[in-house]
Amino acid sequence: MLRAVCVFLVLGFALAKHEQYEGFGLYKIIVKSPEQIELVNYLSHTLDLDVWSHAVPGRAGQVLVQKDKKALFQNELKGAGIEFTLESDDIKEILDLEDRLLEAASKKRNNASRLDSLPFDQIYTYHQVDAFLELLAEAYPNTVTLVNAGKSVEGRDIKYIKISTTNFEDSSKPVVFLESLLHAREWITLPATLYAIHKLVIDVTEQDLVQDIDWIILPIANPDGYEHSHGEFRLWRKNRSSAHSLVCSGVDLNRNFDINWSTASSNNACSDTFHGSGPFSEPETTVIKSIFDQYSDRMELFLDIHSFGSMILYGYGNGQLPSNGLFLHLVGINMASAIDNVKMSWNPNYIVGNVAHVLYDASGSAGDYAMSAGVPFSYTYELPGHRFGIGGFGFFVDPAFIEQAGFETWEGIKAGARYVRDNRTKK
Ligand SMILES: [Zn+2]
Repeated sequence: MLRAVCVFLVLGFALAKHEQYEGFGLYKIIVKSPEQIELVNYLSHTLDLDVWSHAVPGRAGQVLVQKDKKALFQNELKGAGIEFTLESDDIKEILDLEDRLLEAASKKRNNASRLDSLPFDQIYTYHQVDAFLELLAEAYPNTVTLVNAGKSVEGRDIKYIKISTTNFEDSSKPVVFLESLLHAREWITLPATLYAIHKLVIDVTEQDLVQDIDWIILPIANPDGYEHSHGEFRLWRKNRSSAHSLVCSGVDLNRNFDINWSTASSNNACSDTFHGSGPFSEPETTVIKSIFDQYSDRMELFLDIHSFGSMILYGYGNGQLPSNGLFLHLVGINMASAIDNVKMSWNPNYIVGNVAHVLYDASGSAGDYAMSAGVPFSYTYELPGHRFGIGGFGFFVDPAFIEQAGFETWEGIKAGARYVRDNRTKK
């Protein structure tokens, strides 16, 4: 059965051309004061920059700048005394390189014999993942249930799997919920959930985690955006709704949840952090809400897997800590240490903290909504953004890191899952 899955997975990879990114510059910027942060924020709005990571004193940021705005951007930075490095003068070259690497990995696998499980050397498309989940549920009917939970804006099925030895009927078990690809371009997050599925269903080495916990895994939370990122727009982040503007499409799904909605997000439909027309205005977030509604009475842990930055973050996005803030932090450190123990040497150690303290204020996130819905341990993982010793290329995937991303993230997931299993807050 799985041999058929894998043969199917090999098919369907298409190269994208990335012309629209030609000449875009990727800058590393170093800020030293609140005034400099403010100027970068101002420039990001007025020059329509793509902020990949926010610079704060002590931690550099990365910003993608359109070709015709690079000179102006550099002048502004120089004028304000902000240190910067041009890491790539043409991001299209990096995008083309990513395509070549992924294509080469895919070709290499055609000759490989490892067809008895899901190969972790490729970033699979929506259709490939969909076919895999369908066949997985068929092959493992005693533990895997595939749920078709609703449709995306463009009509794609949003599917998640439930993994349980007791068909989710033993109410004494905790539920752990893993999600990836809420943000379309964060491709490296998909192998993290697929690896977890692999270790919970196909290559089970941690029997206790399968026996003691009911799992919900949603690998592609934003199918339309994800498909779009495999086509013309590799760096697409949002969903594909065109209902809110005649000019720009897409809602940032991680700003669309009903928790402090619109208080720290954008009202501009063209912004990458546009929050939509109201809480849960999008079908994709409504599906995720329904999962919380259905299982929050038993759900102890929610991990929303994003990239990039090597961070484990918790809420709330306005800087207020929930009543279990200390435990939230300690479990975050447990998970981070487990990952750090096996991470690649050139990636930094994980940072653990409240999202507003570590990064920036953010409202309407899935992680915050989970806590407000009663999930005691809710985290946003930001997977590493470094490419094998070459440096920080953020969202781009090196095939050689795919399995490692799955493997090391699984160490964190295991630590978190075992903690909530052993320290139940709900019974
Ligand atoms: Zn993200």
